Order: sequence, then C-alpha cells, then structure tokens
Amino acid sequence: MVGTEAHCGADVNFSPYPFLVRMVASMLRGLIAPVAALVGASALLGYLASCSADKQVPPEAPVASKSQSADGEPEAESPEVDGEKDEKAPKVAKLEKIVPNIPTPEVPKPTPEQANEIDRQKKSVEDVLDSGCSTAVVMGLSEQIVAEANCMDPGAYAKLPELPNLTLSKAVFPYMQEPARDAFAKAVEGSKRKMKINSMLRTVAQQYLLYDWYKRKRCGIKLAAKPGASNHQSGLAIDISEPGSWKKQLRRQGFRWMGKKDPWHFDYRGDEAKDRRGLDLKAFQRLWNRNHPDEPVGTDGDWGPDTEEALRRAPADGFALGPQCEEKL
Ligand SMILES: [Zn+2]
Repeated sequence: MVGTEAHCGADVNFSPYPFLVRMVASMLRGLIAPVAALVGASALLGYLASCSADKQVPPEAPVASKSQSADGEPEAESPEVDGEKDEKAPKVAKLEKIVPNIPTPEVPKPTPEQANEIDRQKKSVEDVLDSGCSTAVVMGLSEQIVAEANCMDPGAYAKLPELPNLTLSKAVFPYMQEPARDAFAKAVEGSKRKMKINSMLRTVAQQYLLYDWYKRKRCGIKLAAKPGASNHQSGLAIDISEPGSWKKQLRRQGFRWMGKKDPWHFDYRGDEAKDRRGLDLKAFQRLWNRNHPDEPVGTDGDWGPDTEEALRRAPADGFALGPQCEEKL
C-alpha cells in the first residue's frame, strides 16, 4: 500500500508532477505563442494604426474641415475656414484682377498713322451723306465733338435731364449751354403740358448734312444755315412741335421766339448766354489734326474749304483718336 501508495504516491507524488509540469509547460508554450502572437499583432496593429494615424492627421485635417465647414466644430472651423480662405485668397484675388482686365483690356493708343488707317476703313461723312434724312448717322462723330468742346470750354454743352412731359425726336442731340439748359428745364418741369423737341444742339457735322440736303433740295429741308452760322451750333437754340402753347413759359425763362419766319425756333437770350458759334468747329479741327497730323487744318473755328474737305473725309462714327482734355492746341 505504502509501496503502491508510495509507488502510486511516488507515481502520484513523483511521476505525475513532471508530466503535469511538462504538460502545463507545453500548454503554456502553446498558449504563449498565440497570445504572444496576438499581443504582438495587436501591438503591431496598434503601432501601425498609431503610425498611420499620425501620418494621416495632417493631410486629413483640412479635408475633414472642408467637408464639415458648415456643421463642424466652431472653434476648429473658424481658424480652418479662415486658413482655407487664406490659402485660396490669392487665387480669388488673381481672378478678380484678371476678370475686369478681360473685357476692358488696355488697348494701346493708336499712333496717328494707325488712326489714319483705322479711319480709312470706316464710313466717312461723305459716305453717309445720302443714306437717309436723319442726322443720327453722324452721332458718333458729334459726341466726340461735344466732348472735345467741353474739354476746351467746360460746361459749354450740358446734357438735358430726362423730364416726364418731354419727348425727343430720334436725331435730337440733347445738349445746351449750361445756363440755357437750366432755364429750359425750369420752364418745362412741373408742367402738365407735353413738349416734343425736334432739334437742339447741332454739331458742325450735323449742320453740314442739313445744309447739304437743303442746297440739293433733299429731305424737304427748306432752310438751313451754313455750318458755323447756326444758332443750334452755339447750344442756345431749340425747335419744338408746340411753340404756341409754350411761348409764355419759355419767354419767362429768357427764351426768345423767332416769329413766323421760323415758328418752331426759340433762342436763349439770358444774361449768361454766350455766343459759342465756332467752338464745335474748333473742336472738330482739333480732332482732325490729332488723327491727321500730316495734313492739318487751321484750328480757327472757321468754316472754309479745308475744314469742309476734312469733314467729308472724317469717319461718321468718330475718329480712332478721340477727345483729349489735356491737349493744348
Ligand atoms: Zn431752329
């Protein structure tokens, strides 16, 4: 028993222990490897994850903030949105700088030789002389003449304001000398009566057409002054459709009715009225000389054969080199 017991005991006491130890050891070894592998793997994954997280943070941060800009964290959003603005700001600013330059590129001023060539391609006053019965065909050139005249004599031709009871025929050039313009507006505004203007300011180009048509009995023109001699060129005259109903008001403001000889016509005779006949001619002569320095005309404001020839050849819609206020001639 003892022996058995001892044996058993020995077996029990002796023999089974190393077996158990070995078994446990082998079990532990068996466990350690996967556990170690698991631990190692998780550690590795953790490391990799942390590594990759570390690496991904900087590029991801702005991406996340962009998509979350509307509902992201306000604290993080503001600086990042600002940062985003800062990053993009130069691009936007560049676009803004480029865009306004596209429709209005700074075209270098043509030289007089180039201006000459450009003008030759355009229709001249002579070309449009028989194209109809409206002086609107020389509107472009007339606008340049008015602008040039205002450079030489500021306020010489002031534009008429739009008034509800006033209508203008198609070819009317709505300018008068400033005091005449103001007196005229005073007479018309506030009245319930309607007025139609058939003629107001005429530049030398417009007067030239009327005078030419009158001489050749074109367009039913029965009376037209020689270019340079019309009151309409001085910025003091108006022709209206209803002279009878406006006589009183206009007289009160300093206008004079021309009588039955020219029943539609009124002249401003107020104290500040200036005889500016010749100013539009001088303005045209300056414009011509700027564009044709090789064949200049005198800048005397007089109507003569040279100026007439220049006007016939001038582009109806305006010179390539337009008005210049700084030039002294
Ligand atoms: Zn008239």
